[in-house]
Amino acid sequence: MISGSCLCGGIRFEIEKAVGPFEVCHCNRCRKRSGAAALPMLRVLSSDFKFLSGSELIKNYDAPLLYRPPAYRSSFCGVCGSPVPPADPEGESLEIPAGLLDSAPEIKPDKHIFVEFVPPWDRISDGLPQYDVSKLVLKRHGVELPEDFQPRKHGDPEAQGR
Ligand SMILES: [Zn+2]
Ligand SMILES: [Zn+2]
Repeated sequence: MISGSCLCGGIRFEIEKAVGPFEVCHCNRCRKRSGAAALPMLRVLSSDFKFLSGSELIKNYDAPLLYRPPAYRSSFCGVCGSPVPPADPEGESLEIPAGLLDSAPEIKPDKHIFVEFVPPWDRISDGLPQYDVSKLVLKRHGVELPEDFQPRKHGDPEAQGR
């Protein structure tokens, strides 16, 4: 059993096991959400996850669309502001901000994603595979993006409201 909690301890949860992937996301939304260089996110099955307390403290912010729905959702503790899992996870699996964990999962990070967003003051120094948006879309959806594809970024004026 893996346990996790937010900074104030109001939100506590348990995970039976982590299935992965365990991805370190460098996109500028995950950076703003966490205030950190990158946000490591651990995927677990919804059936393996349960809140022990505090799900009523969770608030959500849906960022403007960059491409298509669903919006990027930031769920956070209304008391301490820690990024947390959504109160009512939809679908078969969900992602957990790994910094919340109080015990170690069986798996370790397996890749870096959105690596074109790594800021000049940061660098990736482990040997894990690195995926930019094109490589990630190909892996996840089997779709090749055009060669001149420019990833949109949170805060770009032309990316707002799409
Ligand atoms: Zn909290
Ligand atoms: Zn991200």
